Amino acid sequence: MIFIDSLVFIYGLVLGSFFNVVAIRLLNKESLAFPPSHCVHCQHRLHALDLLPVISYLFLKGKCRYCKVSISPLYPFGEILTAFSIFFVYKLVGISYELIPSLLLTGLLVISVLTDIRKQLILDVVTFPILGGLVISRLFIGTEPFWYYLLGGLVGFTLLLFIAIVSNGGMGGGDIKLYAAIGVALGPKLTLMSLILASFVGAIAGLLLMIIGKLKRGQPMAFGPYIMIGCLISYGYGNFLWNWYMTFLL
Ligand SMILES: [Zn+2]
Repeated sequence: MIFIDSLVFIYGLVLGSFFNVVAIRLLNKESLAFPPSHCVHCQHRLHALDLLPVISYLFLKGKCRYCKVSISPLYPFGEILTAFSIFFVYKLVGISYELIPSLLLTGLLVISVLTDIRKQLILDVVTFPILGGLVISRLFIGTEPFWYYLLGGLVGFTLLLFIAIVSNGGMGGGDIKLYAAIGVALGPKLTLMSLILASFVGAIAGLLLMIIGKLKRGQPMAFGPYIMIGCLISYGYGNFLWNWYMTFLL
């Protein structure tokens, strides 16, 4: 049990290292396959020992082995974020068919967070293929009928479109398409719940960032991280929270 758990975590770290590469290269409109991993500063090709997730970063004290320029802490952050979120969904659904849509969703969320915090962008080249994969997987996998998940996609898309119009540019087009994919993964109820949670967490985080002076009033804030938190909590505990909330209404 512990063996499999550690294996899943290590697999998550490795996948996270790949997601970092995907996020950075797609933001820079570079090929995913070529050139091989290199230092973005001195272009020196990296060896296997430089590429161990988190460990290399700690071992090299956050600096390139060749030119000694600091490596962004976003690298180990992306690896740890991926490992924890994959571990989280694995613990939720176990080894089951549901792991397929949940991993697609997790991958999409992590890459979106990584591009959003770097350049406040959520990329169509990432969202569209994963949206397609989610639609196909929901044809075969899920506790609800297929139309329910499609409705979720429609609800996610419409809600975010509405927020984008009302907030007058506070929400980008990338967020709208991302929420269409989230909707297909979660279905309408959990999608709505995820958005409530994301807004709640985002509002608290925004307030805290303003208090410590990292964010100015009216300054745009990457919403991706809060979408991710909202989605994962909703995916895991949304039904529970929904029922709990309903006991107050009824
Ligand atoms: Zn270097």
